Amino acid sequence: MSDLENFRQEARAWLEANCPPEMREPVRDEDDVCWGGRNFQFKSEAQKTWLDRCAAKGYTVPDWPKPYGGAGLSAAEAKVWREEMARINARPPLSSFGIWMLGPALLKFGTEEQKVHYLNQIARGEIRWCQGYSEPGSGSDLVSLQTFGEDKGDHWVVNGQKIWTSYADKADWIFCLVRTDKANKYQGISFLLFDMASPGVSTKPILLISGNSPFCETFFDNVSVPKNQIVGELNRGWDVAKYLLGHEREMISATGGGDRAGSLGAALLRASGLEDPVLRADLALFDVDALAFSAMSEKFMDEVKVGRGHPAQPNMMKYAGTELNKRRLELVMAAGGSAALEWDSEASNGGANARNWLRTKANSIEGGTSEVMLGVISKRILDLPGA
Ligand SMILES: Cc1cc2nc3c(=O)[nH]c(=O)nc-3n(C[C@H](O)[C@H](O)[C@H](O)COP(=O)(O)OP(=O)(O)OC[C@H]3O[C@@H](n4cnc5c(N)ncnc54)[C@H](O)[C@@H]3O)c2cc1C
Repeated sequence: MSDLENFRQEARAWLEANCPPEMREPVRDEDDVCWGGRNFQFKSEAQKTWLDRCAAKGYTVPDWPKPYGGAGLSAAEAKVWREEMARINARPPLSSFGIWMLGPALLKFGTEEQKVHYLNQIARGEIRWCQGYSEPGSGSDLVSLQTFGEDKGDHWVVNGQKIWTSYADKADWIFCLVRTDKANKYQGISFLLFDMASPGVSTKPILLISGNSPFCETFFDNVSVPKNQIVGELNRGWDVAKYLLGHEREMISATGGGDRAGSLGAALLRASGLEDPVLRADLALFDVDALAFSAMSEKFMDEVKVGRGHPAQPNMMKYAGTELNKRRLELVMAAGGSAALEWDSEASNGGANARNWLRTKANSIEGGTSEVMLGVISKRILDLPGA
């Protein structure tokens, strides 16, 4: 047997022995997602056991190096690991902005001390992170951000406001873009990390159309941040921010799902026996596009892992994946007819489809809008200035 086949057998046996049966059930709602963090309430013993067992083996971040809490798997092994997880429908042991966004940025820009300290905490699910990028006047034009860090020798004093900070009210720490030089637009931003429990940090949830409040306004009033909590160089935080955005966009593109969940057409057909020929044709088209997206994502990911990715790829994936997910939920709603709009009933699982449909509207805004993605893609493909 090849080394890879050996690893597959090993992973399969470990998963059989260690993944609790409850963790092989589909995720039904937000409570089923394990976000970790200082204040996280585990929904069940099984959820905690699954996290602890994976963290002990480095399987929350399989392809991170072992000294930073990972399992040190190669790209090929990590792919096998994902396939074996999917084979038994195992839930991710940990969902985390630390894993998806901050971790990759720390691996590239962090000091050795920062990597050992923060990455291990992330891998064990001990600290929940939020992202302090957007401000009331700075979304797509992020580089115009105004939150200011005043140099006080051994620390900065940060003042300003962020907005749309997902889960800021639940997060333990924030990775935050702060202006540290007012004279330089691009080279006047620093990338700081700080504790959300620091004096002067406050959050205010924003209520959404779906009835949920997943994000907040976040205020900084004379927040003291020690100098060793900067990632990368002073005033060069824009480089870190852009690198992190690439990973965020890959993460969001996964909402497209490709053919991960199997054929949408077949699933809807089983559920409600669709007769409308137009809807059936739309579903067939969707399934074909989902397959193509899945193949494209896999190709891009393989290229990125061996350093052959194109800089436009995360943006292409983000654009295609989020537009696909919006289409997916439009079709689910169309197939469900007026009953799909039910909001509260037990039969509709608390209006799960309708709420998911409304949530997809944000997919093409978060992490950079579709219009902005198209602009970046064209600049990077055509190699225009400002890419
Ligand atoms: C669900 C969700 C979660 C989020 N979570 C976070 C978070 O955790 N942390 C965080 O910092 N931010 C977060 N955001 C904010 C997100 O990054 C911004 O909403 C996004 O970058 C767009 O900025 P904006 O809302 O200010 O829109 P604007 O920039 O004001 O854009 C308004 C419209 O103008 C268009 N537009 C703007 N500039 C251009 C251009 N150059 N070319 C063509 N069209 C353009 C846009 O496409 C859009 O349609 C989240 C947003 C959502 C929806």
